Amino acid sequence: MHVLNIHGVNDVRLDPAAKPSPGSADVVIKVKACGICGSDLSYIKIGGIHRKPGGVTPIGHEAAGEVIAVGADVRDIAVGQRMVINPMNTPSYIGSGGPEGAFTNELLVRGARAGDSLLPIPDDLPYEIAALTEPFAVALHGVNRAEAEPGDKIVVFGCGPIGLGMVLWLIDRGVTDVVAIDLADERLARATALGARAVINPQREDVRARLAELHGTARVFSREAVGTDAYIDAAGAPSLLSDVVRMGKYHARMVVTAAYMQPVPLDLGAMLTTEMTITTAVGYPTEMPEVLAALPRLRAKAEPLISHRFPLDRVIEALGVAGTPSSAKVMIEMREDRV
Ligand SMILES: [Zn+2]
Repeated sequence: MHVLNIHGVNDVRLDPAAKPSPGSADVVIKVKACGICGSDLSYIKIGGIHRKPGGVTPIGHEAAGEVIAVGADVRDIAVGQRMVINPMNTPSYIGSGGPEGAFTNELLVRGARAGDSLLPIPDDLPYEIAALTEPFAVALHGVNRAEAEPGDKIVVFGCGPIGLGMVLWLIDRGVTDVVAIDLADERLARATALGARAVINPQREDVRARLAELHGTARVFSREAVGTDAYIDAAGAPSLLSDVVRMGKYHARMVVTAAYMQPVPLDLGAMLTTEMTITTAVGYPTEMPEVLAALPRLRAKAEPLISHRFPLDRVIEALGVAGTPSSAKVMIEMREDRV
Protein backbone atom coordinates (compact mmCIF):
# COMPACT_ATOMS: atom_id res chain seq x y z
CA MET A 1 0.00 0.00 0.00
CA HIS A 2 0.94 3.67 -0.30
CA VAL A 3 0.59 6.94 1.57
CA LEU A 4 0.90 10.52 0.31
CA ASN A 5 3.64 12.38 2.19
CA ILE A 6 4.96 15.94 2.08
CA HIS A 7 8.77 15.78 2.20
CA GLY A 8 9.50 19.50 1.79
CA VAL A 9 8.34 22.71 0.11
CA ASN A 10 6.43 21.66 -3.03
CA ASP A 11 7.80 18.13 -2.59
CA VAL A 12 4.97 15.62 -2.20
CA ARG A 13 5.30 11.92 -2.95
CA LEU A 14 3.19 8.78 -2.94
CA ASP A 15 5.43 6.56 -0.81
CA PRO A 16 5.19 2.80 -0.21
CA ALA A 17 4.02 2.14 3.35
CA ALA A 18 3.53 -0.77 5.72
CA LYS A 19 -0.02 -1.81 6.62
CA PRO A 20 -1.10 -0.32 9.96
CA SER A 21 -1.29 -2.54 13.02
CA PRO A 22 -4.10 -1.32 15.28
CA GLY A 23 -3.84 -1.21 19.07
CA SER A 24 -6.74 -2.20 21.32
CA ALA A 25 -8.37 1.27 21.08
CA ASP A 26 -7.86 1.66 17.31
CA VAL A 27 -9.72 0.95 14.08
CA VAL A 28 -8.38 0.44 10.56
CA ILE A 29 -10.36 1.89 7.68
CA LYS A 30 -9.99 0.75 4.09
CA VAL A 31 -10.18 4.18 2.49
CA LYS A 32 -12.59 4.31 -0.46
CA ALA A 33 -12.65 8.03 -1.21
CA CYS A 34 -10.78 11.10 0.02
CA GLY A 35 -11.25 14.64 -1.26
CA ILE A 36 -8.41 17.09 -1.91
CA CYS A 37 -8.74 20.14 0.34
CA GLY A 38 -7.36 23.65 -0.12
CA SER A 39 -5.45 23.11 3.10
CA ASP A 40 -3.66 20.11 1.54
CA LEU A 41 -2.39 22.44 -1.20
CA SER A 42 -1.34 25.02 1.41
CA TYR A 43 0.53 22.40 3.44
CA ILE A 44 2.42 21.33 0.28
CA LYS A 45 3.33 24.96 -0.48
CA ILE A 46 4.79 25.52 2.99
CA GLY A 47 6.55 22.14 3.12
CA GLY A 48 4.27 20.34 5.59
CA ILE A 49 2.89 21.01 9.04
CA HIS A 50 4.65 20.09 12.30
CA ARG A 51 7.19 18.29 10.11
CA LYS A 52 10.45 17.36 11.83
CA PRO A 53 13.70 17.85 9.86
CA GLY A 54 14.07 14.86 7.55
CA GLY A 55 10.53 13.72 8.39
CA VAL A 56 7.29 13.80 6.42
CA THR A 57 3.74 15.15 6.77
CA PRO A 58 1.17 12.61 5.57
CA ILE A 59 -1.94 14.41 4.26
CA GLY A 60 -5.58 13.71 3.40
CA HIS A 61 -8.42 14.27 5.88
CA GLU A 62 -11.70 14.22 3.89
CA ALA A 63 -12.09 10.47 3.94
CA ALA A 64 -14.75 7.77 3.85
CA GLY A 65 -14.19 4.04 3.91
CA GLU A 66 -14.94 0.61 5.30
CA VAL A 67 -13.92 -0.74 8.70
CA ILE A 68 -11.53 -3.69 8.24
CA ALA A 69 -10.11 -4.08 11.77
CA VAL A 70 -11.39 -3.16 15.23
CA GLY A 71 -9.35 -3.12 18.46
CA ALA A 72 -10.61 -5.21 21.39
CA ASP A 73 -11.59 -2.17 23.51
CA VAL A 74 -13.49 -0.27 20.79
CA ARG A 75 -17.24 -0.06 21.38
CA ASP A 76 -20.05 -0.01 18.80
CA ILE A 77 -17.87 -0.28 15.69
CA ALA A 78 -17.85 -3.45 13.60
CA VAL A 79 -15.88 -4.76 10.64
CA GLY A 80 -17.74 -4.03 7.41
CA GLN A 81 -19.30 -0.74 8.60
CA ARG A 82 -19.11 2.20 6.21
CA MET A 83 -17.70 5.26 7.97
CA VAL A 84 -16.81 8.91 7.51
CA ILE A 85 -13.80 10.14 9.50
CA ASN A 86 -14.03 13.26 11.61
CA PRO A 87 -10.34 14.18 11.58
CA MET A 88 -10.77 17.00 14.13
CA ASN A 89 -11.93 14.42 16.65
CA THR A 90 -9.03 12.02 16.12
CA PRO A 91 -6.22 12.31 18.70
CA SER A 92 -3.60 12.22 15.92
CA TYR A 93 -5.40 14.94 13.93
CA ILE A 94 -5.44 12.86 10.73
CA GLY A 95 -3.97 14.64 7.71
CA SER A 96 -3.05 17.84 9.54
CA GLY A 97 0.35 17.20 11.09
CA GLY A 98 -0.11 13.83 12.81
CA PRO A 99 1.44 10.48 11.85
CA GLU A 100 -1.53 9.48 9.63
CA GLY A 101 -2.95 10.90 6.40
CA ALA A 102 -5.97 9.57 4.53
CA PHE A 103 -4.54 9.56 0.99
CA THR A 104 -3.69 5.94 1.59
CA ASN A 105 -5.19 2.47 1.23
CA GLU A 106 -5.54 1.50 4.88
CA LEU A 107 -5.85 4.24 7.49
CA LEU A 108 -5.20 3.84 11.21
CA VAL A 109 -7.79 5.70 13.31
CA ARG A 110 -6.35 5.89 16.82
CA GLY A 111 -8.64 5.92 19.84
CA ALA A 112 -11.67 5.42 17.57
CA ARG A 113 -15.05 6.45 18.98
CA ALA A 114 -18.37 5.63 17.28
CA GLY A 115 -20.46 8.71 16.53
CA ASP A 116 -17.49 10.93 17.23
CA SER A 117 -14.27 10.27 15.29
CA LEU A 118 -16.09 7.76 13.07
CA LEU A 119 -19.63 8.40 11.80
CA PRO A 120 -21.68 5.68 10.06
CA ILE A 121 -22.59 6.52 6.45
CA PRO A 122 -26.31 6.38 5.66
CA ASP A 123 -27.29 3.38 3.51
CA ASP A 124 -27.00 3.84 -0.27
CA LEU A 125 -24.90 7.02 0.04
CA PRO A 126 -21.80 6.45 -2.13
CA TYR A 127 -18.41 6.81 -0.47
CA GLU A 128 -17.39 9.79 -2.62
CA ILE A 129 -20.50 11.75 -1.60
CA ALA A 130 -19.95 10.79 2.05
CA ALA A 131 -16.39 12.13 1.71
CA LEU A 132 -17.90 15.59 1.11
CA THR A 133 -19.06 15.64 4.74
CA GLU A 134 -15.89 17.33 6.01
CA PRO A 135 -15.73 20.29 3.58
CA PHE A 136 -19.51 20.69 3.78
CA ALA A 137 -19.24 20.82 7.58
CA VAL A 138 -16.63 23.59 7.29
CA ALA A 139 -19.07 25.45 5.04
CA LEU A 140 -22.01 24.91 7.38
CA HIS A 141 -20.00 26.16 10.36
CA GLY A 142 -19.21 29.36 8.43
CA VAL A 143 -22.92 29.82 7.69
CA ASN A 144 -23.77 29.15 11.35
CA ARG A 145 -21.20 31.70 12.52
CA ALA A 146 -22.78 34.25 10.15
CA GLU A 147 -26.10 33.60 11.94
CA ALA A 148 -27.70 33.51 8.50
CA GLU A 149 -31.50 33.39 8.54
CA PRO A 150 -34.24 33.43 5.88
CA GLY A 151 -34.72 37.02 4.73
CA ASP A 152 -31.04 37.91 5.12
CA LYS A 153 -29.06 39.33 2.23
CA ILE A 154 -25.78 37.43 2.16
CA VAL A 155 -22.57 37.71 0.18
CA VAL A 156 -20.17 34.78 -0.21
CA PHE A 157 -16.66 35.72 -1.34
CA GLY A 158 -14.93 32.80 -3.07
CA CYS A 159 -16.58 29.93 -4.95
CA GLY A 160 -14.14 27.12 -4.29
CA PRO A 161 -15.56 24.01 -2.63
CA ILE A 162 -16.06 25.78 0.73
CA GLY A 163 -17.75 28.88 -0.73
CA LEU A 164 -19.96 26.68 -2.91
CA GLY A 165 -20.85 24.59 0.13
CA MET A 166 -21.89 27.81 1.87
CA VAL A 167 -24.15 28.76 -1.04
CA LEU A 168 -25.68 25.28 -0.85
CA TRP A 169 -26.37 25.53 2.91
CA LEU A 170 -27.70 29.09 2.70
CA ILE A 171 -30.20 28.14 0.01
CA ASP A 172 -31.10 24.98 1.94
CA ARG A 173 -31.77 27.12 5.01
CA GLY A 174 -34.17 29.32 3.05
CA VAL A 175 -31.85 32.28 2.52
CA THR A 176 -32.87 33.21 -1.01
CA ASP A 177 -30.80 36.36 -1.49
CA VAL A 178 -27.27 34.97 -1.86
CA VAL A 179 -24.73 36.78 -4.01
CA ALA A 180 -21.56 34.85 -4.87
CA ILE A 181 -18.31 36.55 -5.85
CA ASP A 182 -15.28 34.99 -7.56
CA LEU A 183 -12.65 35.81 -10.18
CA ALA A 184 -13.34 32.61 -12.17
CA ASP A 185 -16.47 32.37 -14.31
CA GLU A 186 -16.44 28.55 -14.13
CA ARG A 187 -16.79 28.80 -10.36
CA LEU A 188 -19.51 31.44 -10.59
CA ALA A 189 -21.48 29.14 -12.89
CA ARG A 190 -21.44 26.49 -10.16
CA ALA A 191 -22.79 29.02 -7.64
CA THR A 192 -25.59 29.93 -10.03
CA ALA A 193 -26.44 26.24 -10.46
CA LEU A 194 -26.74 25.93 -6.68
CA GLY A 195 -29.27 28.75 -6.58
CA ALA A 196 -27.30 31.96 -5.96
CA ARG A 197 -29.48 34.95 -6.82
CA ALA A 198 -26.64 36.71 -8.60
CA VAL A 199 -22.91 36.38 -9.15
CA ILE A 200 -20.22 39.05 -9.47
CA ASN A 201 -16.83 38.78 -11.14
CA PRO A 202 -14.72 41.66 -9.69
CA GLN A 203 -12.50 41.57 -12.79
CA ARG A 204 -15.40 42.91 -14.83
CA GLU A 205 -17.76 44.53 -12.35
CA ASP A 206 -17.55 46.95 -9.45
CA VAL A 207 -18.51 44.86 -6.42
CA ARG A 208 -19.80 47.73 -4.33
CA ALA A 209 -21.92 49.20 -7.12
CA ARG A 210 -23.41 45.80 -8.00
CA LEU A 211 -24.18 45.02 -4.36
CA ALA A 212 -25.89 48.39 -3.94
CA GLU A 213 -28.04 47.46 -6.96
CA LEU A 214 -28.85 43.98 -5.66
CA HIS A 215 -29.13 44.59 -1.91
CA GLY A 216 -30.08 48.28 -1.88
CA THR A 217 -28.37 50.97 0.15
CA ALA A 218 -28.50 52.15 3.75
CA ARG A 219 -27.22 55.22 5.55
CA VAL A 220 -24.60 55.19 8.26
CA PHE A 221 -24.54 58.80 9.49
CA SER A 222 -23.53 60.79 6.39
CA ARG A 223 -22.10 57.78 4.57
CA GLU A 224 -23.91 55.53 2.13
CA ALA A 225 -23.52 51.81 2.81
CA VAL A 226 -24.77 48.75 0.92
CA GLY A 227 -27.73 46.78 2.28
CA THR A 228 -25.99 43.41 2.67
CA ASP A 229 -26.66 41.81 6.08
CA ALA A 230 -23.73 39.40 6.23
CA TYR A 231 -20.51 38.73 4.33
CA ILE A 232 -18.74 35.38 4.42
CA ASP A 233 -15.11 35.33 3.33
CA ALA A 234 -14.07 32.04 1.78
CA ALA A 235 -11.62 33.75 -0.57
CA GLY A 236 -8.89 35.35 1.52
CA ALA A 237 -8.09 38.37 -0.67
CA PRO A 238 -6.02 40.87 1.37
CA SER A 239 -8.19 43.90 0.42
CA LEU A 240 -11.45 42.18 1.30
CA LEU A 241 -11.70 43.12 4.95
CA SER A 242 -11.22 46.84 4.34
CA ASP A 243 -13.62 46.76 1.37
CA VAL A 244 -16.34 45.25 3.56
CA VAL A 245 -15.65 47.64 6.44
CA ARG A 246 -16.03 50.60 4.07
CA MET A 247 -19.28 49.41 2.48
CA GLY A 248 -20.85 47.61 5.45
CA LYS A 249 -24.13 48.90 6.88
CA TYR A 250 -25.05 49.39 10.55
CA HIS A 251 -24.68 46.05 12.39
CA ALA A 252 -23.45 44.21 9.28
CA ARG A 253 -21.74 40.91 10.04
CA MET A 254 -18.62 39.40 8.56
CA VAL A 255 -17.24 35.89 9.03
CA VAL A 256 -13.72 35.04 7.88
CA THR A 257 -13.18 31.36 7.03
CA ALA A 258 -10.24 31.89 4.66
CA ALA A 259 -6.72 31.24 5.99
CA TYR A 260 -4.75 34.47 5.90
CA MET A 261 -0.98 33.97 5.92
CA GLN A 262 -0.21 37.69 6.45
CA PRO A 263 -1.77 40.42 8.64
CA VAL A 264 -4.27 42.66 6.80
CA PRO A 265 -5.13 46.33 7.47
CA LEU A 266 -8.38 47.06 9.30
CA ASP A 267 -9.88 50.56 9.21
CA LEU A 268 -11.33 50.76 12.71
CA GLY A 269 -12.25 54.41 12.11
CA ALA A 270 -14.62 53.44 9.30
CA MET A 271 -15.90 50.52 11.38
CA LEU A 272 -16.68 52.60 14.49
CA THR A 273 -19.95 54.03 13.22
CA THR A 274 -21.36 50.73 11.92
CA GLU A 275 -20.88 48.65 15.08
CA MET A 276 -20.32 45.81 12.66
CA THR A 277 -19.23 42.37 13.83
CA ILE A 278 -16.20 40.63 12.39
CA THR A 279 -15.51 37.10 13.48
CA THR A 280 -13.90 33.90 12.22
CA ALA A 281 -15.03 30.32 11.67
CA VAL A 282 -12.75 27.31 11.66
CA GLY A 283 -13.47 23.62 11.34
CA TYR A 284 -16.78 22.12 12.46
CA PRO A 285 -17.10 21.79 16.23
CA THR A 286 -20.63 20.34 16.03
CA GLU A 287 -21.73 20.22 12.39
CA MET A 288 -20.52 16.89 11.02
CA PRO A 289 -23.37 14.57 12.10
CA GLU A 290 -25.97 17.04 10.78
CA VAL A 291 -24.17 17.27 7.43
CA LEU A 292 -23.89 13.51 7.01
CA ALA A 293 -27.57 13.07 7.84
CA ALA A 294 -28.53 15.74 5.27
CA LEU A 295 -26.37 14.38 2.41
CA PRO A 296 -28.88 11.80 1.10
CA ARG A 297 -31.39 14.65 0.74
CA LEU A 298 -28.84 17.02 -0.83
CA ARG A 299 -27.15 14.42 -3.02
CA ALA A 300 -28.34 15.82 -6.38
CA LYS A 301 -26.90 19.25 -5.49
CA ALA A 302 -23.74 17.87 -3.93
CA GLU A 303 -22.74 15.41 -6.65
CA PRO A 304 -21.91 18.01 -9.36
CA LEU A 305 -19.46 19.66 -6.96
CA ILE A 306 -17.15 16.68 -7.54
CA SER A 307 -15.52 17.97 -10.72
CA HIS A 308 -12.76 15.37 -11.06
CA ARG A 309 -12.10 11.82 -9.91
CA PHE A 310 -8.66 10.18 -9.83
CA PRO A 311 -7.32 6.86 -8.54
CA LEU A 312 -4.71 7.05 -5.74
CA ASP A 313 -1.81 6.30 -8.11
CA ARG A 314 -2.58 9.57 -9.94
CA VAL A 315 -2.90 11.70 -6.79
CA ILE A 316 0.06 13.96 -7.72
CA GLU A 317 -1.65 14.84 -11.01
CA ALA A 318 -4.93 15.33 -9.12
CA LEU A 319 -3.27 17.84 -6.75
CA GLY A 320 -2.30 19.92 -9.79
CA VAL A 321 -5.90 19.89 -11.04
CA ALA A 322 -7.20 20.87 -7.59
CA GLY A 323 -5.15 24.08 -7.81
CA THR A 324 -6.95 25.29 -10.95
CA PRO A 325 -10.24 27.25 -11.11
CA SER A 326 -11.73 24.72 -13.54
CA SER A 327 -11.98 22.26 -10.64
CA ALA A 328 -14.35 22.18 -7.70
CA LYS A 329 -13.86 19.16 -5.42
CA VAL A 330 -11.23 16.75 -6.73
CA MET A 331 -11.92 13.28 -5.33
CA ILE A 332 -9.38 10.49 -4.96
CA GLU A 333 -11.07 7.10 -5.24
CA MET A 334 -9.12 4.10 -4.01
CA ARG A 335 -9.42 1.09 -6.25
CA GLU A 336 -7.89 -2.10 -5.03
CA ASP A 337 -6.57 -3.03 -8.46
CA ARG A 338 -4.60 0.20 -8.89
CA VAL A 339 -2.31 0.57 -5.90
ZN1 LIG B 1 -10.82 19.82 4.26
